[in-house]
Amino acid sequence: MSTNTDLDKDLLTTQDTSKLTHIVDCPDDKENAQAWVDEAKAGGLELTALCGHTWVPESDPVRHPVCQVCLDIAQIRLA
Ligand SMILES: [Zn+2]
Repeated sequence: MSTNTDLDKDLLTTQDTSKLTHIVDCPDDKENAQAWVDEAKAGGLELTALCGHTWVPESDPVRHPVCQVCLDIAQIRLA
């Protein structure tokens, strides 16, 4: 029996996703993710991450730890 698992779950659900670096879910009609991010930056458009998080990219983004959910989904897609 472990109480640690419950603690980890709690941390995950209360985590502020805006404090993470997410992997952009690139729309099919865009050339690549970087082009899509540049377009969103220029036009103030909202991006959607692989994990479902949405945000408007800033011109000078702060470096945050990479979102683990995005990483997991990216790995599944590449597999
Ligand atoms: Zn994410």
